[in-house]
Amino acid sequence: MDLTNTQYSPEDEDRMIEDAFRDVLNGYLASNHRKKVEMIEKAYHFAREAHKGIRRRSGEPYILHPIAVAKIASQEIGLGSTSICAALLHDVVEDTEYTVEDIEQHFGKKIAQLVEGLTKISGGVFGDKASAQAENFRKLLLTMSEDIRVVLIKMADRLHNMRTLGSMAPNKQYKIAGETLYIYAPLAHRLGLFAIKTELEDLSFKYEHPAAYDRISQQIRESEERRSAVYNDFSEPIRRSLDNMGLKYEAKARLKSVYSIWRKMETKHIPFEEVYDLYAMRIIFDCDDQTKEKQICWNIYSAITDLYRLHPDRTRDWISVPKANGYQALHLTVMGPDGNWIEVQIRSRRMDEIAEKGFAAHWKYKIGESDEESELNAWLRTIKDILDNPEPSAIDFLDTLKLNLFASEIVVFTPKGELLTLPSDSTVLDVAFNLHSEIGSHCIAGKVNHKLMPLSHKLSSGDQVEVLTSQSQYPRPEWIDFLATAKGKTRLRKALQRVRQPVVAEGKKILDEFLEKNRITPDNPVISKLISIFHAASRDDMLYMLGSREAALESYMVATLRKTADKQASSPSLISKLLRFGRVSDPQSAKKSEQADTPKPEINRKETYILHLDENGDSNFRFADCCAPIPGDDAMGFIDDEGEVVVHSLACPRAQALKAGFGQRIVAVKWDVSSGTFPAQIRIEGIDRFGILQELIQMISTHLSIDIRGLDIQAEDEVFHCDLKVRVEDASAVDSLCDKVKKIDGVQKAIRVS
Ligand code: MN
Repeated sequence: MDLTNTQYSPEDEDRMIEDAFRDVLNGYLASNHRKKVEMIEKAYHFAREAHKGIRRRSGEPYILHPIAVAKIASQEIGLGSTSICAALLHDVVEDTEYTVEDIEQHFGKKIAQLVEGLTKISGGVFGDKASAQAENFRKLLLTMSEDIRVVLIKMADRLHNMRTLGSMAPNKQYKIAGETLYIYAPLAHRLGLFAIKTELEDLSFKYEHPAAYDRISQQIRESEERRSAVYNDFSEPIRRSLDNMGLKYEAKARLKSVYSIWRKMETKHIPFEEVYDLYAMRIIFDCDDQTKEKQICWNIYSAITDLYRLHPDRTRDWISVPKANGYQALHLTVMGPDGNWIEVQIRSRRMDEIAEKGFAAHWKYKIGESDEESELNAWLRTIKDILDNPEPSAIDFLDTLKLNLFASEIVVFTPKGELLTLPSDSTVLDVAFNLHSEIGSHCIAGKVNHKLMPLSHKLSSGDQVEVLTSQSQYPRPEWIDFLATAKGKTRLRKALQRVRQPVVAEGKKILDEFLEKNRITPDNPVISKLISIFHAASRDDMLYMLGSREAALESYMVATLRKTADKQASSPSLISKLLRFGRVSDPQSAKKSEQADTPKPEINRKETYILHLDENGDSNFRFADCCAPIPGDDAMGFIDDEGEVVVHSLACPRAQALKAGFGQRIVAVKWDVSSGTFPAQIRIEGIDRFGILQELIQMISTHLSIDIRGLDIQAEDEVFHCDLKVRVEDASAVDSLCDKVKKIDGVQKAIRVS
């Protein structure tokens, strides 16, 4: 429902809300659950009151979301009153003043626990942390072992959010769609919720690859006529045969989902026309006696193989041995009249409902009213078994998920059993610094799985890590190369600073004495001059060099420094000159800068201007939008009308123009950026071969801790182009990424583009 441009009267809205809730209630009453209508109504009124006056981004009253989630939980997943109540209340604790205790007081312990579980796993879903996905998944699984209903309601919540994703902020759309594809769709599959799984996949795909989605949808529409002609030719004889057997059945062509067609095209590198199994024939027969189902399936199988040639190794008997998630059916593949293989799926009505609805179907085939608690316990036990039991198919599921989620992350344990999620390539030292700065600073080695390892040892998922320390150890600058975590790097830098502090102070003392003796005022231009004389990265660096006797002040420097100081004295404010310049060209902005009350930084354009950016994001410059330089790039500064230094890439055409027109406002710059990541884009071109993309993605995500923000791949004939958006620490990281990518067989070109 889109209310964005439509104004509804409060009465209309009330009716709409009331109707939506009636819909939930009627669906519930039609099910086999015990009738606990009062509790559901109470939860509805409570939630409605709690979310009163709040609207979703689309403009519709917020309460319509929990109602929709309750409807999915009830009618598409088949959950009972406890879950319907929890679904109605699922955002109350998260978004309103009410607490879990309030819920418990009104609705009892069970519902309160479910709402609490849902509140817990919702935290961080929309967060920006790189590890949020993995963290969420872990939380999901942990919560799952407590009460599977939390996961099922979360699934309903996600499905509704995906159905209404169009009204979310665009930057969230991409993130939510990705998360859905990696976490929720596989989980839905695992739980036997096939219809939901397919819908989640298609919806995610639609937002992640809108162009591909539209193109494939279009191709499906265009090929429909030809497809149904072939299908009719193929199914005719089968129908006749089944009619002769006296069966009551339904036969239909089951079209592959847009997403699975795309997946096939991508993995097999084939065009749409070559996806031969675009559809399967599905035969659903009615049968009152469950004991006869298996025999009927094989009778149908036999009738079909009398008509068509059977593919020797594509028969799947999921009747004798159902899939771990409960799926039952008999699949076979035969040669169709046009020479293409066609899959036929044979199921009873009961099997079909289980396949489509999973849990919901289990309810339906219980006789009489059933009790949610005891049913759930049985089902929960099955799921737990699958997760606990190292059976290959179950492990497969977890592995695929891990592959997607943890390619760039590992999980290690402390001796106390605490869990740490770290980027891959993390070392013993990372663990030490992540535990505590003091532990990191004094780390000498580690015991990894009880074996002594150096502090630079790279860890693997599942390692148990004990950090060994010594009071005689102290932090060293070269350790920075051993650290993969941002936290570790920050803490090391701080620790190094602490160690440096006395040395820097000593350096300052030496400098002050020297300047005083030679009667030079220690103002900024003088300091800048010294920084450049010693090729230091910053003022502190320069002082550290002096304090540690790495560098010394010599008498020959006096003349240069005096000159610098004198110039400063005779023209007290270069910046005011620049502002005057601004006034001539643009009185409006000059006026603005006069009124600005923040003190301007002193900029001496004859000297190299050091670009500082610290951990808090405080900087003394601004990145130009036109060329988006990143630390490490050859760059120049342009002093704008506000007196702020805007950094352009040297190659930027605009920078060239500025240089030509406003030479006096240009400063040379040097980077001193110790934290943060910055956007960069890489263009990769090569010859397409089987598996190359997989290798590419694997390489980027596994071997380098690069934060991938976007990936757009286009293949045409033999050639593919790939635009990769990443966030990196500096330009050298992009260069080394390009170098590594170029080593992949088939890649012709990998260059940074702006
Ligand atoms: Mn929600």
